[in-house]
Amino acid sequence: MNKHNQQPSVKDSQHHFYPNRMGRVVLLAMEEILGHGGVNAVLHLADLPAYIKAYPPYNQDLKFPFIHISHLQTGLEKAYGPRAGRGLAMLVGRASLKYGLREFGPELGLTDLAFRLLPLQTKIKTGSEAFAALFNNCSDQKVRLEWDDKYIYWHIERCPLCLEREADGPCCHLAVGLLQESLYWVSGGKYFEVEEKQCIACGDEACTIFIDRTSIG
Ligand SMILES: [Zn+2]
Repeated sequence: MNKHNQQPSVKDSQHHFYPNRMGRVVLLAMEEILGHGGVNAVLHLADLPAYIKAYPPYNQDLKFPFIHISHLQTGLEKAYGPRAGRGLAMLVGRASLKYGLREFGPELGLTDLAFRLLPLQTKIKTGSEAFAALFNNCSDQKVRLEWDDKYIYWHIERCPLCLEREADGPCCHLAVGLLQESLYWVSGGKYFEVEEKQCIACGDEACTIFIDRTSIG
C-alpha cells in the first residue's frame, strides 16, 4: 500500500478527471436513489465530506478526480454491504442517464427527433459511438468500441470506477447500469443483456462490458 515509489496507478489517480458536471450527474443520481441522508452517509464513508451540500458546479472544468468516483462506489459498498451496494451502484448508473441526457443530450444530438426516428440498430450504433466520444473527448476516461454480430464490446481502457481496487469479480457496476439504461432509453423500453466480463481490478487489460445487440423482450 503506502509505497513511496510512484506506481503508474498512483500517478493516474492524481491526473485523471471527469469534468465537474459529470461528477455532479453521478451525485444527483445517487441522491435520487438514496435520498439526502444516504448520499451524506456514502460521502462520509468515501472520505469525501467536502461534497456534502456542495456538489461540483455545472461546468466543463476537468476537476472531479477519478479516485473520487472509485471511492463513491466503495463508499456505497461500505454503507450498504457488498451485495446491496452493487445493486445500488447499478441503480445509480441507471439514474445517471436522465441527468446525463439533461446535461449532454443536446450536444450529442441524441435527443433530436431525427435521431429518434432512426432504425433501432442504427440508433444503438450511433448512440454508442456518440457516448464513447463524449467520454473520450470530455473526460480522461478512455473507451474503445468493438462490434460483432452478437455483441458490442465497450472497453474502458482507463476506468475511474475501479481505480486502485483489487476485486475477485468485475466491479464497475455504475457503468453497467448506465449502459443498460441507455439501451432501454434508445430502444423505447426494451431490455438488453449488459454484463461486465473483464475488469482492470481483476488484472485484466481493460474493463470490458458485453452488450447483447438483441433485446430480451
Ligand atoms: Zn473498471
